[in-house]
Amino acid sequence: MSEGISVRIIKPTVWNFEVVNGENAFKEVVYSARVSGVPDVVKDDQVFSMLVENDYGSALEHIIIKFDLKMSKGNAPEFLEHRLVSHSGYSTRYIEVSKGIDKDSEGYEVIVPLHLLSDEYKDETMRTITENLRAAISAYRKINKGGVPREIARYVLPFAIAAGTYHVTINLRSLLNFLGLRLCVRASPEIRAIASQIYFALTEKLPQLKGLIGCRGFMRGCCPESNVTGVRTGKQIKSYPVCIFKSPESEIYIPTIKEMRNNEKVIKFDKEKAVKSQEILFKKWAEWE
Ligand SMILES: Cc1cc2nc3c(=O)[nH]c(=O)nc-3n(C[C@H](O)[C@H](O)[C@H](O)COP(=O)(O)OP(=O)(O)OC[C@H]3O[C@@H](n4cnc5c(N)ncnc54)[C@H](O)[C@@H]3O)c2cc1C
Repeated sequence: MSEGISVRIIKPTVWNFEVVNGENAFKEVVYSARVSGVPDVVKDDQVFSMLVENDYGSALEHIIIKFDLKMSKGNAPEFLEHRLVSHSGYSTRYIEVSKGIDKDSEGYEVIVPLHLLSDEYKDETMRTITENLRAAISAYRKINKGGVPREIARYVLPFAIAAGTYHVTINLRSLLNFLGLRLCVRASPEIRAIASQIYFALTEKLPQLKGLIGCRGFMRGCCPESNVTGVRTGKQIKSYPVCIFKSPESEIYIPTIKEMRNNEKVIKFDKEKAVKSQEILFKKWAEWE
């Protein structure tokens, strides 16, 4: 019954990324700082960095960013948890899930977690997953063809179906909050992939942000994720990537708030190395490797 259904494994994707007013967008932030009284002796680039680094966030709200994204329907609520984001979503009530503005080929798109794409799981687990996806999609089509509306038929669809498609408008303050939370090793793989793609698109359009943004620990110089067992302390949890900032012996150590209060010493912080190390990680996440 499920034969003939084409199921395509895709990666979470961000596209149509735009900073309104392009490379001049940052000037409006600088202008708001000038209105507040920042004198002309402080150069535009310095004003902008200061506002980001010192977290004078309200001025950053003048920069508006737009993009489209596609992720699994099951993981999309994690994106929607960010309340200060405007989004219009693809309707599974009205559209066949294989169709729509984001679909450029025949078949049903699904997102399979990275872990399952690794060699360890490739064979039997992947076969089981694919068979179940096909069976669920086949049931969806059958129920819908039998006259039941799509908004009802969709209840048999799996978490993996790539119908979490949104057109997004967000201001820079809110986007930095999103990135800080979701460029962290503790965030789920799919949302890390989305956040990493946004990181590269954003730093390309607004190069002034390079070296200023990353996970919350990087942005604040101190990580709020205190005492997280399996991530910052204790035995590493296998499904989380290793936090590159966690080791007190390293030159890119970023203490947690608790460690800082316990007087853990930062021997030296090599910012350039920290940026490079983050970007190696983000590149892997962005590419869904
Ligand atoms: C690693 C990780 C694990 C998570 N685990 C869970 C989980 O187990 N369960 C769960 O439910 N969620 C979980 N979340 C989601 C998390 O709790 C937030 O809902 C989500 O990250 C959105 O963050 P936010 O509230 O800062 O963003 P936004 O909703 O965009 O809000 C931005 C900022 O606006 C302010 N704000 C927004 N709304 C209010 C309000 N009503 N009152 C006061 N201030 C407001 C806050 O300062 C907030 O930081 C997790 C997130 C991460 C990164």
